[in-house]
Amino acid sequence: MVAGAALLIGNTGCNGSGKKTGDGKDSTKTDSSAAALSNIGKPITYQKDKRYIFLTFDDGPQPPGTINCKNIFHEEGVKATFFMVGFNLGIDAYRRRIADSLNNSYPEFITANHSTTHGFRDNYKRFYSNPDSAVADMLKAQTDLKIKLKIARLPGMNTWASGSEMQGPKSSLTVAKALDSLGYTLIGWDVEWQFIRGSIPKQGAQEMADQINKRFEQEYTYQPNAIVLLAHDRMFAKAPYTDSLRKFISILKQDPRNVFETIDHYPSVQNRKK
Ligand SMILES: [Zn+2]
Repeated sequence: MVAGAALLIGNTGCNGSGKKTGDGKDSTKTDSSAAALSNIGKPITYQKDKRYIFLTFDDGPQPPGTINCKNIFHEEGVKATFFMVGFNLGIDAYRRRIADSLNNSYPEFITANHSTTHGFRDNYKRFYSNPDSAVADMLKAQTDLKIKLKIARLPGMNTWASGSEMQGPKSSLTVAKALDSLGYTLIGWDVEWQFIRGSIPKQGAQEMADQINKRFEQEYTYQPNAIVLLAHDRMFAKAPYTDSLRKFISILKQDPRNVFETIDHYPSVQNRKK
């Protein structure tokens, strides 16, 4: 069930909320029908001959990266999840519009909670040593970002919690337990597309696709036959890197076993016992 999970624990390279402005154009048409939104969180049936990939992108809205990711996923026809940071909404109305658009684009995309302040601006030690304020920070983000389901990723921590199961860095577990008791499922990650210098993708498209394939082949994922990829919207602000994201997806799409899903369909979310 939890293959090699202990080795998956670690801190993320999340470096907080970017303040760059961008001029990315949002060309994505989204399905905002009430019918589509009413299906949010409805369980899917897993097929044994498929491999489930959860693309999760953190720290948005951070244009133009968020818009570029959204447009590429839309054009490639793959589902994805955006873990957003509430603080970003206060920067300008443009970021709020991006959040609103993502909130209304289910079943293509889903949004989830990645805190209000990104752990007091990456001050994780202070954030996690004050569990009450950390929980309040997460709950404020849930409201401000209009997140529909209780699905969150803790800032800077690869922590998982889903009722019966919990794991992650020790310093995060008090906050994790408190959120779990409030009904939140916490999502970590299996593989990270890392970055250098704040936002430059460290690995190329083929290397990342190879990492995904290797993990599936080794059955080395937190949940069986499902893999969570962590990346950050801001990594895909410029053309060479957006090309890399598109190539990564197109490589994975060539394997007919691969299915891209939103995080409401991740096993620990849809199988959670309340
Ligand atoms: Zn983050």
